[in-house]
Amino acid sequence: MASIKVRSMAMANSLRRENRERRTLEVMVRLYCRESHAQESDLCAHCQHLLDYAFERIENCPWGDDKPTCANCSVHCYRAEERMQILQQMRYAGPRMLRRHPVLAILHLLDKGRASDLESLRAHRDRRRLQADAS
Ligand SMILES: [Zn+2]
Repeated sequence: MASIKVRSMAMANSLRRENRERRTLEVMVRLYCRESHAQESDLCAHCQHLLDYAFERIENCPWGDDKPTCANCSVHCYRAEERMQILQQMRYAGPRMLRRHPVLAILHLLDKGRASDLESLRAHRDRRRLQADAS
């Protein structure tokens, strides 16, 4: 019973992560398209195609529930051309994301280096608690 609960929690977490990755991707592609292709609100056909492709890759990810973020994945499932395009867009949008969508950007960074970053975040939090208790 307990293990079922843990398992479904893990699944819910990975689903949330997956949705977050989708949302982050979309925000980044939109940002790139708006500034580089002078689109007002909708994506240009090129970027829409790229985003659809990226979503489809997430959909078909061989890792399933254990999916790492695409940037951190050892299986390069993108075709060379799309991979190049998405990398270019992420490189452009990444630093800008931090200013406009700091929460999403930080969550994305956490997803990227999940284990190690979470550890250091916990250590950081524990240190602050200790300091708070001491004062
Ligand atoms: Zn575009």
